[in-house]
Amino acid sequence: MNTIESNLQDIRNSIPENVTLVAVSKTKPISDLMQAYEAGQRIFGENKIQEMAEKWETMPKDIIWHMIGHVQTNKVKYMASFVDLIHAVDSYKLLKEIDKQAKKYNRTINCLLQIKIAKEESKYGLSEEEALILLNSEEVKNLNNVHIQGIMGMATFTDDQQQINTEFKRIKAFFDRIRPQYPDLKTLSIGMSGDYREAIVHGSTMVRIGSSIFGARNYG
Ligand SMILES: *Cc1c(COP(=O)(O)O)cnc(C)c1O
Repeated sequence: MNTIESNLQDIRNSIPENVTLVAVSKTKPISDLMQAYEAGQRIFGENKIQEMAEKWETMPKDIIWHMIGHVQTNKVKYMASFVDLIHAVDSYKLLKEIDKQAKKYNRTINCLLQIKIAKEESKYGLSEEEALILLNSEEVKNLNNVHIQGIMGMATFTDDQQQINTEFKRIKAFFDRIRPQYPDLKTLSIGMSGDYREAIVHGSTMVRIGSSIFGARNYG
């Protein structure tokens, strides 16, 4: 068994069946992705649209591609024909563009709203209030080619486990609070290599794991 295959197996053995595993393959060569593919992995996450499009072009067409990074509105068109789920939607402007591009291909693109949960640095993401305003807006309800299926968050990059747990707890509480009114919301995307176990304890339904599968990245 090669390393990528055994890493994948270890992770699969450590996550419950109802948790979706996104293999985060950014910066990694296609040969690495193919090892994961051969080991049965079908969902891959990338954070740059151009890199994802290049990989999509050459790789098997039964792969499900997730865009996990920040999306610039003017680049949506490069992935609209194939992307399955966009994790980090944080504005009406972006949702509208995704809808417009998806329509051209007669598709529906799934989206998650990125909620700001980290204490510091993160420039991106919506406050809980802003997310509710989006979910309630008539304009958003009229976008027929996007489907908002959940929320996503990134915890503070820290060794302070207490801090991370607090942030996961907060987004899970928000998720539970809004779900009764928005039954379409079924995905809570939290957890990466360093914190996915805690994220699952706090109700994650989708983990995004890169380095624990493919090894450390040199950049990105
Ligand atoms: C890179 C990245 C990940 C995966 O990070 P690892 O620590 O390598 O598991 C998850 N989510 C997002 C948004 C990322 O950009």
